[in-house]
Amino acid sequence: MECWELMPKIELHAHLNGSVRSSTLLELAGELGKRGTVVFSDVENVIMKSDRSLREVFKMFDLIHVVTTDHKTVTRITKEVIEDFASENVVYLELRTTPKRNDSKGMSKRSYMEAVLEGVRAVTMVEVDLSHELFAETPAVNERYNTGRKKIFVRFLLSIDRRETTEAAMETVNLALEMSRFGVVGIDLSGNPFIGEWSTFLPALEFAKMQGLPITLHCGEVPNPEEIHAMLDFLPRRIGHACCFEDEEWETLKKSKIPVEICLTSNIKTESISSVDVHHFAELYKSNHPLILCTDDVGVFCTSLSAEYALASSTFGIGKREMFQLARKAIEFVFVEDEVKQKLEEIFASAARELD
Ligand code: 5GP
Repeated sequence: MECWELMPKIELHAHLNGSVRSSTLLELAGELGKRGTVVFSDVENVIMKSDRSLREVFKMFDLIHVVTTDHKTVTRITKEVIEDFASENVVYLELRTTPKRNDSKGMSKRSYMEAVLEGVRAVTMVEVDLSHELFAETPAVNERYNTGRKKIFVRFLLSIDRRETTEAAMETVNLALEMSRFGVVGIDLSGNPFIGEWSTFLPALEFAKMQGLPITLHCGEVPNPEEIHAMLDFLPRRIGHACCFEDEEWETLKKSKIPVEICLTSNIKTESISSVDVHHFAELYKSNHPLILCTDDVGVFCTSLSAEYALASSTFGIGKREMFQLARKAIEFVFVEDEVKQKLEEIFASAARELD
C-alpha cells in the first residue's frame, strides 16, 4: 500500500459529506445524542455498517446531513477531508458538495459554501492552493505560499441533488458562477438515482454550459437507458460511474470520448457491480478510453484513493509504471485553468524521475 500512498494522485470524484471520517461522525452524533436530537446507538449502528445497497447509502447520507449540517461542522469536515486527501499524496482535489439550505440553522446555500471555504482557510497541515482571492483577507497570506511544505490544489464542484427543483438547481448554478473566483470550477449532478427527472435539471445544466461552467454527471448508476442517452447527448465534460450501460450506450460513450470517473469500491459495496473482476474499468482501460480512478465517498465506503489504486493494480494486473501513467493522465480531465495543469505536470514529472 505504501507505494500507492507515496505516488502523487488526482482526485476528481469525492463528495464532501461522504468523505467525513467515521470518528468525526461518531463524535458529532455523540454530542447530538447527549442533547437528545438523535439516538446515538441508532446512528452508531448505521455508521459502523460496512456494506450498504445503493438505496441504503442514500438513507445514510440523510443521517450524515443531520449530524453535519451546521456552519461550524461544515467548516470542520472540509478541513479534515482536505487534510486526509493531502496526507495520502493527493496533489489535486476536486471536492464536490451540495450547497444546502437549512432554515432551522440559519443556513442558505451561500452561507453553506462560505462555511466550506472557511474550512479551506483552516487547513494548517499542508499548503493549500485554492484561489489567492480566498486568502486575500487573511493576514498570513504570504506565509501560505512557497513555504516548501507539502501542497494540495483544491477546487470545488457544486452538486445539484436529484431531489431539487429546477429553481433550486438554478440557484446552485448561479452560486457556482458567483463563487468562481473562490475556486468553484464546475457543476455535478448527483443524489439518489431512483428519483428525479432529467428534464427537471436540464434547464440549469444548459444554463451552466452556456456560461462556460464544466459539468460532470452521475450517469448510469441504475438501468435507465432513456436518461443515459439523454445525458450522453448532452456531452458533459465527464461522467461518473457508468455501471448500467448496454452495448449501444458503450458504443456512444466510446465514440464521444467522455472521460469516466471510476469508483471501484463504491460500485462493489453498493452492489452496482457484482464483483470487482467484472468491473467495466478493465474494458475501458484496455480500449484506452479516458478514465480516472476516484473514491466517491472515502468515509462511507471505508476506502482511500491509494486503496483504489492498489485494488485496480492487483485486480487487473497493472504495474506501478502504468498506474502512475493513469494517475498522470487525469491532469487532462481537471476542470481548471492551464496554469494549474502546468504545475501538476511539473509535480508528476519530478515524481517520474524518482520512479526511474
Ligand atoms: P454532499 O454533497 O452532501 O457533500 O455529499 C453527499 C451527497 O453526495 C449525497 O447526499 C448524494 O447526494 C451525493 N452522493 C454521494 N455519493 C453518491 C453516489 O455514489 N451516487 C450518487 N448519485 N450521489 C452520491
